[in-house]
Amino acid sequence: MISAIILAGGKGKRMCAKVSKQYIELRGKPILYYTLKRFADCSQIDKIILVLPKDEIDYCKNEILNKYSLKVDMIVEGGEERQDSVFNALECIENCEIVLIHDGARPFTSERIINDGIKYAKLYGAAAPGVIPKDTIKVINEEKFSVSTPDRNTLRAIQTPQVFKFNLIKECHNKIKKNNISVTDDTMVVDMYNNEVYLYEGEYTNIKVTTPEDLILAEKLI
Ligand code: C5P
Repeated sequence: MISAIILAGGKGKRMCAKVSKQYIELRGKPILYYTLKRFADCSQIDKIILVLPKDEIDYCKNEILNKYSLKVDMIVEGGEERQDSVFNALECIENCEIVLIHDGARPFTSERIINDGIKYAKLYGAAAPGVIPKDTIKVINEEKFSVSTPDRNTLRAIQTPQVFKFNLIKECHNKIKKNNISVTDDTMVVDMYNNEVYLYEGEYTNIKVTTPEDLILAEKLI
């Protein structure tokens, strides 16, 4: 059993828009429509679990799921932070071998990225797509002076879907919850407890639509 958690439980404050960023339209359809469609069309995915803020569940059912005849297997209420939303979704999943965790705001993921993630998670327990950063990355100190410049070839900007053996990610999420640890993504959750994450080739087009300028590129990519 392979399940995909699609996270759309955030409000996207960095977008400064009136509607949550997942409902902003690209060529007449909401971003979340494109994301869900990618996973719905993927033959390896058995179940889709969609995470939404409580007060957006009815809106999303009417404006995306029913309107575009998209089927999800479960809708789960989001939490305060991204990691709480993931936790809530993991709590609702049973009998699962592999779970993919994907940002609802990343509508351009390819079938290749999804399938590679599943393949490598089966082999290594945890896998995520990443790309070499285009810019030089600096480590800075508190006074904002450069401290060091890591070799770009040793760096990866990590994308989603992040893919895991279900028991591993569930156990690690339970631990961070218990220990009150904050994370920004799910690879951090497993490597925090010394589990290796295999980082395979992502794609520069697999962007997360986060700030208004991302919409310009997203319009072109659609
Ligand atoms: O805020 P950020 O861009 O990291 O969010 C990544 C994804 O996580 C988005 O698709 C967002 O909807 C989701 N999220 C969530 N629950 C939250 C915060 C963010 O599902 N509380």
